[in-house]
Formats: sequence, structure tokens, C-alpha cells
Amino acid sequence: CADAAMYRAKEQGRDGYHFYTAELNRQADRRFQLEHGLRSAMERNEFTLYFQPQVHTDSGHLRGAEALLRWHPASGSVNPTEFIPLLEDLRLIIPVGRWVLERACAAAAQWQHGALAGVRVAVNLSVHQLRQSDFVSMLQSILFETGLTPDLLEIEVTESVLLDDRGGTATLLALNGLGVRVAIDDFGTGYSSLSYLKRLSVDALKLDRTFVKDLTTDADDDAIASAVISLAHALAITVTAEGVETLSQKRFLQDRRCDHIQGYLISRPMPESAFLSWAQERAGALVPEVI
Ligand code: C2E
Ligand code: MG
Ligand code: MG
Ligand code: MG
Repeated sequence: CADAAMYRAKEQGRDGYHFYTAELNRQADRRFQLEHGLRSAMERNEFTLYFQPQVHTDSGHLRGAEALLRWHPASGSVNPTEFIPLLEDLRLIIPVGRWVLERACAAAAQWQHGALAGVRVAVNLSVHQLRQSDFVSMLQSILFETGLTPDLLEIEVTESVLLDDRGGTATLLALNGLGVRVAIDDFGTGYSSLSYLKRLSVDALKLDRTFVKDLTTDADDDAIASAVISLAHALAITVTAEGVETLSQKRFLQDRRCDHIQGYLISRPMPESAFLSWAQERAGALVPEVI
């Protein structure tokens, strides 16, 4: 981005350097504002959790929901793809991630008493959280205090965590021991090592949405999706396709025996109350051709 600004600056000649400086200043200003906002976001109660349903591809039945962090500062909401990397840089992802776990587990524990019994919650974890030496005992207390059965919690980590030599992989192994499920997020976009899939007990692979997007028209994407599904099934691992937006993508994934789907076709992420009404309304009415 800075390179592109420099390039445009050169194109514009002498005055371009003013443009370049102005652009960099603007970016630095924005980052400063966001950092400042994030440092007080917790105490101001500006974070919320949204939930996005994950359903069985064949039956359309609800199998779980992914908890997704939202930030609504007074100045207007900010996209997670912008503020989450900042939380990571500032290491604020450690306290904020703990809050996410507490809220998500408390919510899922409530679901078990009603129509949503058996529905799992999936929570994204940062490698910085997994590197905390007290992470496992902290998670154990959260499970104990909320009363959530460990296998109803699925943690989502990206492939890079599988290569972490600063405690991340050791924590994942310990989480296996607690009975918490482990899903590999954005699968296929990072460095995948089949040996890690074997050493850790991975429960699910989430096929990245970049492979789902053109699945029905791009033979390479079809080949990758099909190979991921075969690999996973051979290792007794389930596959959830991310970013499913159309009925034809869904049918394609169903033909290839993809276990679960998640995406705008089913629903956008929503506040918990909306998620609960959505689930209640559709319970019993879920037939494959309707979803
Ligand atoms: P992710 O874990 O891969 O989450 C899926 C993202 O895809 C979400 O973006 C979701 O809103 C979006 N999505 C779902 N269905 C569709 C679809 O059909 N089409 C398209 N185009 N997008 C779809 P979101 O909520 O903006 O989150 C972005 C990323 O931020 C997440 O990617 C995850 O890596 C991270 N994130 C979100 N919440 C947390 C959190 O609590 N902790 C940590 N560490 N990371 C989080
Ligand atoms: Mg995720
Ligand atoms: Mg993902
Ligand atoms: Mg992603």
C-alpha cells in the first residue's frame, strides 16, 4: 500500500511527494485513533459477539455457531479484518480473547437448556492466547464456571499455529486432553503439514472461502476442495466449507460430501438474540432445498 502510494506519487511528479506524505500521515492518524479507541473499548463495553450458524450440508440442521467479535465505538463500527490485527499487535487480544471465550461459553451453556441442545460454539483463538502459560487452566475455569461440556466448544486456529514453537502447539495438545474440539481455520491458505494433522487430534478443517468462491466454475478449486474433503475423511476429520453464498455452491459441496457449511446462504453473523430467533423459527422447517 505504501509502495502503491509512492508509485502514484512519482507519477504525479514533484507535488506527488506531498501527496505521499499526506497519505502516510492519514494512515498513521487512523492507526493512532484506532489504537487509542481499542485501549478503552473493553471498559466502555464496545465489544459484542455475533454468531453465525454452521449447518449440516445434507439435512440443513444446525450443528453449531461461530462466535465473531464486533467493535462498535461511538465513531462508527470498524471491520474485524482491520481491528483484530491491531488487537494482536497491541497484545490486547489476550484480555479481549478471554472475554470472547467467557461470553461464548456462557451463551452456549444456556443453549443446552433449550431447543438448541447439542449445538456447539466455535471460538477463534490467536497464537498469542495459546502462548500464555496459564491458558489451559484459564479455559478449564471458564468451562467449569459456565458449565459447558468441553466437546461443545470448538476452537478455531489457523495453520500457522500448528508450526508455532513458542508454546502454541503444546497448548493445542493440552486442549485435546481437555476434550475441547480443534478446527483448522482458513485451511489451504497456509502451510499445511499432514504430520501435524496426525500428531494433534484435529476434529475439523474449515475449507477457506477463497476455494469456495468459484468452486462451480473453476476446475482447480473443485480439485482442491475435493482433495481436502478426501484427505480429511481419510483421517476421520470433518470439513466445514466457509463463505457459502449460493445454492449451486451448496449443491456442489453436497455432491462432494462436505459435512458442514457456513456462509451468507444460510445466514450472516447476527447478535445472539437474533441467532436464537433464527434457530427457533427454522427448527423443524429445515429441508435441504430450502437452505
Ligand atoms: P474467520 O474466522 O475465517 O471468520 C469467517 C469470516 O468470514 C467472518 O468475517 C464472517 O463474517 C465472514 N463470512 C461468513 N460467511 C461469509 C460469506 O458467505 N461470504 C463472505 N464474503 N464472508 C463471509 P469477520 O467476522 O469479519 O471476521 C474476520 C476474521 O477476524 C475471522 O475470520 C477471524 O480470523 C477474525 N476474528 C473474528 N472474531 C475473532 C475473535 O474473537 N478472536 C480472534 N482471535 N479472531 C477473530
Ligand atoms: Mg473462524
Ligand atoms: Mg475462516
Ligand atoms: Mg478467514
